[in-house]
Amino acid sequence: MIRVRFAPSPTGDLHVGGARTALFNWLYARHLGGTFILRIEDTDGARNTEEAARGILKGLRWLGLDWDEGPDVGGDYGPYFQSQRKHIYDAYFAKLEAAGRVYTEDNGAARFKFSRTAITVHDLVCGDVAFAPTEEPDMTIRRPDGSYIFHFVNVVDDIEMKMTHVFRGEDHLSNTWKHIDLCNALGATPPAYAHIPLILNPDGTKMSKRDEGSAIEKSYMNGGFLPDAVFNYLCLLGWTPRIDGEKLPRETLVALFDPAEIHSSNARFDMAKCSWFNAQYLRELSPGALLAAARPFLDLAGLTITDETTAAAAIFSVKEKVSLLTEIPSWVHYFFREDYPYEPDVMAKLLAKPENQILLKGAATAFAATSEWTEAGAHAAIEDAAKIACVKPGALMPLLRFALSGQSRGPGVATIAHLIGKTATLQRIERTVGML
Ligand code: GLU
Repeated sequence: MIRVRFAPSPTGDLHVGGARTALFNWLYARHLGGTFILRIEDTDGARNTEEAARGILKGLRWLGLDWDEGPDVGGDYGPYFQSQRKHIYDAYFAKLEAAGRVYTEDNGAARFKFSRTAITVHDLVCGDVAFAPTEEPDMTIRRPDGSYIFHFVNVVDDIEMKMTHVFRGEDHLSNTWKHIDLCNALGATPPAYAHIPLILNPDGTKMSKRDEGSAIEKSYMNGGFLPDAVFNYLCLLGWTPRIDGEKLPRETLVALFDPAEIHSSNARFDMAKCSWFNAQYLRELSPGALLAAARPFLDLAGLTITDETTAAAAIFSVKEKVSLLTEIPSWVHYFFREDYPYEPDVMAKLLAKPENQILLKGAATAFAATSEWTEAGAHAAIEDAAKIACVKPGALMPLLRFALSGQSRGPGVATIAHLIGKTATLQRIERTVGML
């Protein structure tokens, strides 16, 4: 039975690299029907915060990376916070002592005696990586204050929690021989390792916390992305599934996942591509689902929803125009309020033509005469008005769109008229006539 884990140190926001490490572990567990464990490596009291731990959990949940054992869900191998596992580390430390593999220095720090043999990491991604017998000084595993250092607790927990595989960032590869040495000294079989290449910025520099697209909450959750889109994009950041196409449902990605296909070279982050995925996923949402996803961003923009169905239809009408949920309010605000702004340059252009007033009045008359207020009815009214004024309907559209929305872009004019209703349509035209 496969057991894998994501073991973040809660020092800050969930980073895109960490999220992808979690994702690959999760994919492997789900692919093989194994167990995905979340373990919080919070032994560094000075750098770890509860807020960061909460943020990491929130980010993982948002991405849909549910864990089978860990914080909030429990499990047979808990607690899942390293800060609560000192008794376990003490017991393993005693084992190493009994095996004659530790000694204490004058200052009270305890060191692990390396075996100083050649150690080969059989890495699922990087292949065999051979380390010659080390010449490094023995490794401190316990500080004078009795607290344990990362390498020790990390290894103990992987043994104690019965991990079969460890997928983690490539930055840990250079220390893996130490982990294997410790495992051996503790009489345990090391897990299989898979070190995942780094994620680089588009310019090839190492991605850091401040770079675009690096923080899950700030860049994606608050940036108007859908979890499914980010999930899909992150899967392909360092892995190419054997299938045509890139936009792939979760089940397919789970079914296809194969660690042997993880790239051994670094991945390049591409925000434009991630946005492209988002646009594709947005287009597939039902009006109700799109409204639910957009709601927090409408709230932020101060737009109040009074009629759910109309609001959903309004947002649905612009779904092809946006890539991110954050873009939606500026495309739909006039559906939610009467005091919408008018684009000044369009206004100036329209003001320059006196006949526009007459055209608008004609349209108002045609709209007023429409008995059945449907999109088709609104459309027929526009055609009638154009015919009477001896212009093409196309000549009337920008003018009407401006009157009804204050914008020069947006969904079809008949769609707008239908959704805002007959009363608002007539009022908005009247108001615009007054301005011209
Ligand atoms: N806490 C370590 C980190 O965040 C985990 C390393 C590992 O996965 O073994 O980098």
